[in-house]
Amino acid sequence: MAYKTVNPYTNEVVVEYKNTTDEELEAALQTGHELYKKFRKQPISERKEILHNVAAKIREKADELAKACTVDMGKLIGEAHGEVELCAMIADYFADHAEDMLKPEKLETTANGVAEIHHHATGVLMMVEPWNFPYYQIMRVFAPNFMVGNPMILKHASNTPTSAKMMCDVIAEAGAPEGSIVNLFLTYDQVTKAIHDVRVQGVALTGSERGGESVATEAGKALKKTTMELGGMDAFIVLDDANMDDVVNIAWRSRLYNAGQECTSSKRFIVMENVYDEFVEKLKENFSKVKMGDPLDPKTTLAPMNSKRAKEKLQKQVDDAIAAGAKVVYGNEAVDLDGQFFMPTILTDIDRNNPAHTTELFGPVGVIYKVTTEEEAIELANDSSYGLGGIVFAGDSKHGEEVADQIETGMVFVNNFRYSLPELPFGGIKRSGYGREMSKLGQMAFVNEQLIIKADRPDLNNLGGGLVASGPAE
Ligand code: NAP
Repeated sequence: MAYKTVNPYTNEVVVEYKNTTDEELEAALQTGHELYKKFRKQPISERKEILHNVAAKIREKADELAKACTVDMGKLIGEAHGEVELCAMIADYFADHAEDMLKPEKLETTANGVAEIHHHATGVLMMVEPWNFPYYQIMRVFAPNFMVGNPMILKHASNTPTSAKMMCDVIAEAGAPEGSIVNLFLTYDQVTKAIHDVRVQGVALTGSERGGESVATEAGKALKKTTMELGGMDAFIVLDDANMDDVVNIAWRSRLYNAGQECTSSKRFIVMENVYDEFVEKLKENFSKVKMGDPLDPKTTLAPMNSKRAKEKLQKQVDDAIAAGAKVVYGNEAVDLDGQFFMPTILTDIDRNNPAHTTELFGPVGVIYKVTTEEEAIELANDSSYGLGGIVFAGDSKHGEEVADQIETGMVFVNNFRYSLPELPFGGIKRSGYGREMSKLGQMAFVNEQLIIKADRPDLNNLGGGLVASGPAE
């Protein structure tokens, strides 16, 4: 597997990196393991300052980081800046809150003495991350795990190696001890080897079902805990009394942000029939206004896709959808630019046998369904093997919440754009994966929740609770 940056706007091979050797992997595992043992004895407060320094260093290097990410995978420079700042926010948040989240927790119990859960690091983690948010995906795992004391080995996507290297360099420059996070250009076999290594105690993956299945299978064989942040086909439901100005403002952004290459993009618009025609017209209008061009130019509003391979895959999916009966109401025309651009496209008339009904379209393609009842909207939204996020627009937010409660996903936003903030849990159910990143739930993902019961002396009338109900032998 070749780790290289190919600028998707110019198609130029910018830089290629050599694969990591087995010796380098072994050295990283050992350094990480030794650091884990050191972290176990270090007060968490000592890492707090370092993580704040990481945030400061990220902000200091924001221009450099944003540009590298744009060249790696084509993201609009403004969006790249937003991602960089979000990383700094995540680092600051966990620096400020982790100590409190990880403090011992007292339990009400009938046991003799004081019962508490203590939170400890578990060991080195293997992180496998995707290209679509090259920095943010790293930070979602790094910040909480650095605070608890789990060193990390990073295998990033083969098409965003420069971003991966740069973020790990910034973290090291900010003063994180050697081994805190080590970026390696690993083959899949080396990832498997690391997962089975006794020094590795957990595996965090964000990516596709294909990647998730392979990595979770290996982790399962090795009995290592995992978190899986996988794909999504999030619904954007427009109820009959929704404020259509708000809907129109949010819908196109929620599909075209990051050139539509986002797990929580609104991939399926489910619209009540009384507002359907208006919705389709306005989405067409907004899709037609985007300006494709150099992603480094702040005036560009639609970036190229991340790679030629991704663009070809999306074109094939759109062709297959049309062959199965989908109607193109906008787009799907060739773009007269050298970069990997895909014209924003809107498909309708997708029946449930159409492949576009069941497979994630990871690019600027919106699918619109017309429904006649709210029950139908909910049933359609839940008719997916995925369960990541979703949006509901309703005239009344309380009613929107009632609908949201019936959506089988990990996150739903009512009359809102999607949020990704350090204090909010991020993750899904069904084939969108399991576990959560960020918030207290993310902080606890790879923590040993150790029970300690302390007493001055045993109580012979209360030994082991229900397990020793008969009391001591005479
Ligand atoms: P992918 O092919 O699964 O790649 C993700 C990462 O997994 C890459 O680093 C990839 O390495 C690695 N990988 C894949 N198969 C592997 C294996 N057998 N062993 C070890 N490593 C392996 O995913 P993608 O298609 O590039 O990423 C987009 C997907 O991620 C979409 O489905 C999107 O919805 C999902 N996503 C989910 C979230 C979330 O939080 N739920 C967030 C962002 C993206 P290589 O690059 O070297 O192949």
